[in-house]
Amino acid sequence: MKTLKHALIAGGGIAGPAVALALAKAGIRSTIFESYPAAADGVGAGLMLAPNGLEALKIIGVHAELRRVSRPIPQLLIADSRGKVLSRFDGLEGMQPSRVVWRPDLYRVLRQAAEHAGIPIVYGKRLAAAGETTGGVDALFTDGSHASGDMLIGADGIRSSVRALIDPAAPSPHYTGSVGLGGIVPHGVMQVPADTMTFVFGRHGFFGYWLDPDRGICWFGNLPHAERPTTAELGRIPAAQWLERLREFYGDDQPAQRLLGHADPDRLLPLVINEMMPPVPRWHSERMVLVGDAVHAPSSSSGQGASLAIESAVQLARCLRDIPEPAYAFARYEQLRRERVEKVAAAAAKTNRQKAAGPLAKALMHVVMPIALKTFFNPARMFGAQHAYRIDWEAFAR
Ligand SMILES: Cc1cc2nc3c(=O)[nH]c(=O)nc-3n(C[C@H](O)[C@H](O)[C@H](O)COP(=O)(O)OP(=O)(O)OC[C@H]3O[C@@H](n4cnc5c(N)ncnc54)[C@H](O)[C@@H]3O)c2cc1C
Repeated sequence: MKTLKHALIAGGGIAGPAVALALAKAGIRSTIFESYPAAADGVGAGLMLAPNGLEALKIIGVHAELRRVSRPIPQLLIADSRGKVLSRFDGLEGMQPSRVVWRPDLYRVLRQAAEHAGIPIVYGKRLAAAGETTGGVDALFTDGSHASGDMLIGADGIRSSVRALIDPAAPSPHYTGSVGLGGIVPHGVMQVPADTMTFVFGRHGFFGYWLDPDRGICWFGNLPHAERPTTAELGRIPAAQWLERLREFYGDDQPAQRLLGHADPDRLLPLVINEMMPPVPRWHSERMVLVGDAVHAPSSSSGQGASLAIESAVQLARCLRDIPEPAYAFARYEQLRRERVEKVAAAAAKTNRQKAAGPLAKALMHVVMPIALKTFFNPARMFGAQHAYRIDWEAFAR
C-alpha cells in the first residue's frame, strides 16, 4: 500500500500540471496551487518542444492533443546575415521532429488534461511559507490559508519560493545580459521555407525566424542590456521604442532588417528578461522537492526548458511511485536528473557565448562559424544526446 497519498504542488505553469498528471498515473493524488487569480490563457510566446519532451508528454497522455495545437519543425538551418546557409540539421534518424507550440497552447493542453483527470487547481494561492511536520508538510499561502499533504513539490518557476524554503542560501537566476524580443509580420514580406526554423548568426547579433501558416512570419532576437532590468522598467518603454532599438541594433543584417522593417509595434510579443539557473546545490529536503525551472532553467537558447521540465516531472513521479520514503525518492530523482540538466544548461551557455561574440569574432563570423559548426557547435552532435533521451516508465526506478 502506498504511504504517499497526497502531494501539494506550488505552481500551475508547465511543470505543475505535468507532475500532477504523472503522479496521477503513479496512483498519487495532488492539488495544484497557482498564485495567479485565474488560468493564464493567452500569456507567452512560441517555444520548441524537442523529441525528448514530446516522448515525455506521451507518457502523461497529452501527446495527441499537443500535436493538434503544434507544428512539426523537421529542419533547423543556421545561416549568416547574407543568407548563406552554414549548416542544416534534419533531425536524427528514427526520431520524430521537434515541434513548435505557443506556450499558451501547451499550458492549456496540460491544464485541461489535469482538469479532466480530476486534479484540483486552486487559483490565487501564492505560497508564502512551508514547514515539515512528522510525516508531512504544511503550506501557508499569502492569503492566510493553509494546506497540508505528504509532500510539497515546488513547480513555481525560476523565482521559486520553494527553492528558498529548501535552502535559504540557494542561488538566484543568473541574468544573461539581454532581453528577448519577438513578433509576427504578415506572410509575403519574404519567402520563408515551411517547417523550418532558421537561426541567423549575423554581423550584429543573433536572430531567428520561422513560418506559422496561421499567423505569419514569427521572428525573435536578443537586445543587449547591460544591467538586469525590472519588469516594470521594461514596461515603461513603449513598444515602438523597443522596435526602434532593435532596428538600430541589427542594422543591415538580413533578414532582420527586412522583417523588423515590416514589424508592427502592436504585434510585439511579451518581452523576456533572459536568465538561467546556475546549478542548484539542494534539490530537495525531507518533504519538499523542486521540478522544472525552479531547479533547472537553462537559457532559452537551449530550446529545452519546457522539455526538461516535463521530463523531470515524469521522472519525479516514477521515483515516488516506486520508492515509498519521499527523501529517498527525491534523492533518486536528483540522481537521475542532475547530470543531464546541468549538461544541457552548460551547452546552452556555450551557445550564448557564440551568439554574443565580440566585434572581431562577429566580423569574422563567416570564417569562425563554419569551423565551429564542424566541431563543438555541430548541431547533430549537440542535439543528439539531448533529443535521444527516453524515460522507461515501466522500469522500476530504484
Ligand atoms: C524566451 C523564452 C523562450 C523559451 N523557449 C523555449 C523553447 O524553445 N523550448 C523549451 O522547451 N522551453 C523554452 N523556454 C522555457 C520554458 O518556457 C520553461 O522552461 C517552462 O515554461 C518551465 O515551466 P515551469 O512550470 O517550471 O515554470 P513556469 O512556466 O514559469 O511556471 C511557474 C508557475 O508557478 C507560479 N508561481 C510562482 N511562484 C509561485 C508561488 N509562490 N506560489 C504558487 N505559484 C507560484 C507562476 O505563476 C507560474 O504559473 C523558453 C523560455 C523563455 C523565457
